[in-house]
Amino acid sequence: MPRSPSPDKPKPRPTLTEQSPPPETLPEIARRLAKRYLPTPPAPRKAAEPLDGLIGTILSQQNTAPITRRQFDGLKIAYPRWEAALADGPDGIETVLKAAGGGLSRIKSEYIWKVLRQLEDTRGTLSLKDTREMNDNQVRTLLESLPGVGMKTASCVLLFDLSRPAMPVDTHIGRIARRLELVPAAWNAVKVEKWFDEVLPRTWNERYTFHVSAIRHGRETCKAQRPRCEACVLQDLCPSAGVFLNETVGSAAKVPPHRPETN
Ligand code: SF4
Repeated sequence: MPRSPSPDKPKPRPTLTEQSPPPETLPEIARRLAKRYLPTPPAPRKAAEPLDGLIGTILSQQNTAPITRRQFDGLKIAYPRWEAALADGPDGIETVLKAAGGGLSRIKSEYIWKVLRQLEDTRGTLSLKDTREMNDNQVRTLLESLPGVGMKTASCVLLFDLSRPAMPVDTHIGRIARRLELVPAAWNAVKVEKWFDEVLPRTWNERYTFHVSAIRHGRETCKAQRPRCEACVLQDLCPSAGVFLNETVGSAAKVPPHRPETN
């Protein structure tokens, strides 16, 4: 006689593929992250000059926020107009960046100078103010045509400087998406960003809130090393929680029991 399956046996999780529908938990994940990290999002802001935002985003790559700010301020003092930076060349820009501290000064100075030169050559102006009148696709096409500007940098300018519903994916958001098994583990950042762009509501407020709160979650709780699953608001929704919690218990068991000091 065939045996009926045990009612308590958990169902195996389906393998994630590119065709998998967005998980039903995604809205709840977004809601909890927002409640924990950004309960009151700011009003949308439009930068006076989106080119400033683009150059700030280039500077921010692998830099801390204070160094990015120092380097950007240094450039604006040295070059009140970007035309002066273009005329000074990559060596001059590098000198300013080095004086402000931070890494990759040579690479970034080359990127910035090449962006300025291409804008001058192709548009005859060192400004991106007219992007406010373009649709999202037109802005993205323009930005991604510039040297060194990829999908994430373009998305940052769209989200932060033009208040458009873009969804930049950095290392923290990619890691969280994989640990929550929202996306397959092998996906790179570009694939993850395209996926989020498909499944998140297309409003600036929801995407800004998700982006900022997910990055804070990655920095403060779902860290690359030793995620703090015991303090995580997503623990009951996260397939990886058990693995990390078991590791914590296992490593704690290897620590010798505390002994009172005897002298
Ligand atoms: S439960 Fe752990 S692995 Fe899962 S999202 Fe939270 S901190 Fe990250």
